Amino acid sequence: MKYEPLSGREFPRYSGIKTFFRLPHVSLNADYDVALVGVPYDGGVSYRPGARFAPTHVRQASSLGRGYHWSRAEHLWEKRKFADIGDCPTVPIHQEQTYARIENFFTSILKSKNKKFIAVGGDHSITLPILRSVSKKYGVLSLIHFDAHLDTYPAAWDCEYHHGTFLRHAVEENLVDPKNVLQIGLRGPLVGKDDLAFVKKYGMRSTTIDDIRKNGLESFIKTLPKFTGPTYITFDIDSLDPAFAPGTGTPVVGGLTTYEAQIILRSLQIKNLVGADVVEISPSYDHADITALAAVAVMFELMFFC
Ligand code: MN
Ligand code: MN
Repeated sequence: MKYEPLSGREFPRYSGIKTFFRLPHVSLNADYDVALVGVPYDGGVSYRPGARFAPTHVRQASSLGRGYHWSRAEHLWEKRKFADIGDCPTVPIHQEQTYARIENFFTSILKSKNKKFIAVGGDHSITLPILRSVSKKYGVLSLIHFDAHLDTYPAAWDCEYHHGTFLRHAVEENLVDPKNVLQIGLRGPLVGKDDLAFVKKYGMRSTTIDDIRKNGLESFIKTLPKFTGPTYITFDIDSLDPAFAPGTGTPVVGGLTTYEAQIILRSLQIKNLVGADVVEISPSYDHADITALAAVAVMFELMFFC
């Protein structure tokens, strides 16, 4: 079995059956190194719906993805065996059952010693059950969290689990070590200053857009810590400015450019990335695939850590 994409020089990129990066679609138990996988669930959104359709949309846009990284001078398909393993089972009308299925599915991927994955959500509520399965294998994790929002917010409508609470639960369930949490791209919006109490209490490194722009990107990336233990990256696409990612559930202006996100991703020093996700892409609010192409660019950078 060759873990290589369909050649764009043989079959034009608009043709063929859509998989992530035109890679082979294989079963959960095949002998790939890194699974690219969709998690089509958006029952945790508080505003615009639609992230359930993101895996399909991102697969389509990823037809333009290539394997060689110009600035890293490395080739993905020579490095590892990447494959599209399809979508994780979900239950569109039931969050608890969806969480159980997600945890079960990712536990199955991680049963093989060295297998890794990059997941495409879904809304940000999918990250919690994924972290539960990753932490079962690797213990307490370091976390790099790109987002406009803190995602440590309180319950809403008496519901504990929505897309703005995954990080609070991950800390409370001891899945991630708050001292090894790095948040990037934050800019609110906050109901009040109490919204900041959680990250302050646990001493998280919560960086804002001001922290990036104040002295410039170059000096910001020099301040970033090294990640030595098992590390997970979750990339909420709304960390990008709506000009660069209009297709998202809860857009916030004044965000990162796609290029800034690429540079930050390239500068991260991570010894052991054990999994990653890209979430909150809502295709019906996307225009000209801007958001989907940004998600593909983020996936591409993440794949080099695997
Ligand atoms: Mn989020
Ligand atoms: Mn967000």
